[in-house]
Amino acid sequence: MSDCLFCKIRDGQIPARVVYRDEQCLAFEDINPQAPTHVLFIPNKHIATVNDITPEDREVVGQLFVAAAKLARERGHADNGYRVVMNTQRDAGQTVFHIHLHLLAGRSLHWPPG
Ligand code: 5GP
Ligand code: ZN
Repeated sequence: MSDCLFCKIRDGQIPARVVYRDEQCLAFEDINPQAPTHVLFIPNKHIATVNDITPEDREVVGQLFVAAAKLARERGHADNGYRVVMNTQRDAGQTVFHIHLHLLAGRSLHWPPG
């Protein structure tokens, strides 16, 4: 998707603080962090929303969680805890239409969110 912000980050056309990369996914610091750790995990493949995930995407979507849990462990958040969330469409406040798993950690997180 030529006009997709996260495809441009994936391709290096827009800079980002990349913290993890493998064959299937990429992770970078959120530009407007909402917690001491706020990292976005995206599939290299452009998938607009959770509604667009297909059975063929099972592995890459699973890999987003594997990578997020790994980084959470490495940053010492495994015991205190963290949140992983994928906002979908308007009511959830999705603003970038290339799926991304938010990893939020390092402070107490309220539930339910606002
Ligand atoms: P959403 O609301 O779609 O779930 O989350 C989009 C996230 O992308 C937001 O947390 C926002 O701060 C982040 N974001 C938006 N533009 C950029 C950008 O250019 N670079 C980075 N690193 N994060 C961005
Ligand atoms: Zn994209």
